Amino acid sequence: MVTDQPPVVLCFGGTDPTAGAGVAADVLTLASLGCHPAIVVTAVTAQDTSGVKQYSAVPPELVIAQARAVLEDMAVTAFKTGMLCNSAIVSAVASIVDDYPQIPLIVDPVQASGHNDPLSEEPLDDALRVLLLPRALLVTPNSEEARRLAPGADTLDACAQELLSLGCEYVLITGTHDPTPQVLNRLYANKRLLDVFTFERLPHTYHGSGCTLASACAGALAHGLDPPNAIAQALHYTWNTLKHGRRLGMGQHLPDRLYWGPMGDRQSNQ
Ligand code: PLP
Repeated sequence: MVTDQPPVVLCFGGTDPTAGAGVAADVLTLASLGCHPAIVVTAVTAQDTSGVKQYSAVPPELVIAQARAVLEDMAVTAFKTGMLCNSAIVSAVASIVDDYPQIPLIVDPVQASGHNDPLSEEPLDDALRVLLLPRALLVTPNSEEARRLAPGADTLDACAQELLSLGCEYVLITGTHDPTPQVLNRLYANKRLLDVFTFERLPHTYHGSGCTLASACAGALAHGLDPPNAIAQALHYTWNTLKHGRRLGMGQHLPDRLYWGPMGDRQSNQ
């Protein structure tokens, strides 16, 4: 279908006042990729580029009301989930996405920040496994999240098989946390390893890289790319946002999701 409307991607996630991670990262990423981001806030956090100080969950009924307001008004092309904070919210989100089985769902199964500060009030592994992963087109755990979601598995390949067996179609396990000279991102589908995407390891740590990747996957899928291609493009885009990342606070670098834009190349002004 040819249209001049940007595809709408509905993101469920938490706020981050630095705009490094969470729904602000989703907005920046999706706008940068020519999508319209619709945002359903699941939690409000107080955090900076060094860590999470505090957070509070939004009542599940209000999560549902936000999502229904968008879905009754706009044609949504993809769903993406990030910080879900508690199992009642996972359940609320599942009840929404299950009403729209034709809309692809991308799950970033985040439960802690890069500094390992909790972003959920309770372990969400069971709720994610039972309520969201069976319905997901793509789940994007880092290797620590993959091990956590598949505790019985002894290798990353086995973790991926376990996650695929729950019903999600594609599993992308990112390798930033692993002690390899380059970053190896593994894509699985159809009970096998489809591809390994290898990237130069960048020198810093970054706040909001996982949110950027999952949103970029959702954006590329919303534009109609087939999943392996969408995921390859999203990884490439995300690596570039990190490559152009800047240290705007006193902690981690922030990805530059608009690195390619007219004011994007600010390297020479630093
Ligand atoms: N804060 C919010 C609201 C998030 O959604 C996320 C990740 O999804 C984070 C913080 C963590 O970001 P990072 O893992 O880059 O520290």
